[in-house]
Amino acid sequence: MRTQVAIIGSGPSGLLLGQLLNDAGIDNVILERSSQEHVLSRIRAGVLEEGMCAMLDEAGAGSRMHAEGLPHDGFDLTFDGKRHRIDLHGLTGGKRVMVYGQTEVTRDLMDRREATGGKTIYEAAEVTPGDFDGPKPFVTWVENGVARRIDCDFIAGCDGFHGVSRKSVPEGAIQTFERVYPFGWLGIIADVPPVSHELIYANHTRGFALCSMRSTTRSRYYVQCPLTDTVEDWSDARFWDEIRRRLPAHVGEAMAIGPSVEKSLAPLRSFVAEPMRFGRLFLVGDAAHIVPPTGAKGLNLAASDVRYLFDALREHYDEKSAAGIDHYSQRALARVWKAERFSWWMTSLMHLFPEIGGFGGAFGQKMQEAELDYLVQSRAASTALAENYVGLPY
Ligand SMILES: Cc1cc2nc3c(=O)[nH]c(=O)nc-3n(C[C@H](O)[C@H](O)[C@H](O)COP(=O)(O)OP(=O)(O)OC[C@H]3O[C@@H](n4cnc5c(N)ncnc54)[C@H](O)[C@@H]3O)c2cc1C
Repeated sequence: MRTQVAIIGSGPSGLLLGQLLNDAGIDNVILERSSQEHVLSRIRAGVLEEGMCAMLDEAGAGSRMHAEGLPHDGFDLTFDGKRHRIDLHGLTGGKRVMVYGQTEVTRDLMDRREATGGKTIYEAAEVTPGDFDGPKPFVTWVENGVARRIDCDFIAGCDGFHGVSRKSVPEGAIQTFERVYPFGWLGIIADVPPVSHELIYANHTRGFALCSMRSTTRSRYYVQCPLTDTVEDWSDARFWDEIRRRLPAHVGEAMAIGPSVEKSLAPLRSFVAEPMRFGRLFLVGDAAHIVPPTGAKGLNLAASDVRYLFDALREHYDEKSAAGIDHYSQRALARVWKAERFSWWMTSLMHLFPEIGGFGGAFGQKMQEAELDYLVQSRAASTALAENYVGLPY
């Protein structure tokens, strides 16, 4: 079997890259470890930057997002009992974000791939990239117990943080940077109307909370919790009681509650692997970097990586130029590190930190409140927040 680009992983980055390549007439095959149903059952991101929306349009997969997604012109910050709106639209000269679930993005891309005849092999076991340092890379896997191999020009490692691509790179050729945060997010989905039509990010002495949504009838809420907690520790009643306490009284009182339809606990991590290219193997999206979800950047960074890689591959095939490929890692990392910084900063500003090295506790809380107060009083500071939140250009 042969293809031009072998893509490992059918998450948003693999599917988006595969679709853009398909539409440009560049042959590709996606190898996915899980079943299609499993990939579609994962509930994750929900805030899309305009760049990501434009790429879904370019891939012919944006129509349902425009019909059902919720464009947001701002969000609220709450702290010290106060509530302030960050006017994204006004502060950035007309930009906004789109609230549309990652599960729906994945479904739309899968539907489009199927409609345009793209090939995906699900439940591919033991996927292994080979010889990517030389001119003839290949990928092997096991399908229904049978060993298979595909030869290719390039391999795109779109297989997330726990995938095989990054792990296939010799240790001495890769450098990693990491921060693991001493808390996680307990998230629920409930079929109740959102407490506000825009997102609310809450800083509170009991810990961070986020009020988000998936539609006008489905809410997505989170509370910061210790890493030692389990989902079983959080009954619905405990969750509703806790999130309401972390919001200004009038917001908590207005919150509609109901049974959760999903509940999960996510640890928070910042991580970057450098470089993002090893010969003919490219790392894309979560395979190369992770951000804490506070700044809503993970999925959007996957999209900008795909932009740079797709342009580089098209240049290679159409113009016989290696310039894009040679600069992929450098271009992608320049944007990745800015999003890492923003996500780290927003996480540091909004969460309750256990007493570490003197920063945290009551003093840390006062520092956060002073910075938040400055942030909402100063147009320059609010603009910097808004500019990063809607997404830096690429
Ligand atoms: C709770 C939570 C909330 C989030 N909120 C946001 C948000 O609001 N905004 C935002 O932008 N981002 C958010 N993110 C991050 C976002 O979900 C990820 O950044 C995004 O999924 C990255 O896409 P990806 O395609 O690179 O990786 P993934 O989605 O992880 O896809 C990788 C794919 O590769 C497959 N795979 C793995 N290993 C192998 C293998 N060995 N062989 C073959 N296939 C393999 C996996 O099964 C998977 O299908 C959030 C994440 C979490 C956990």
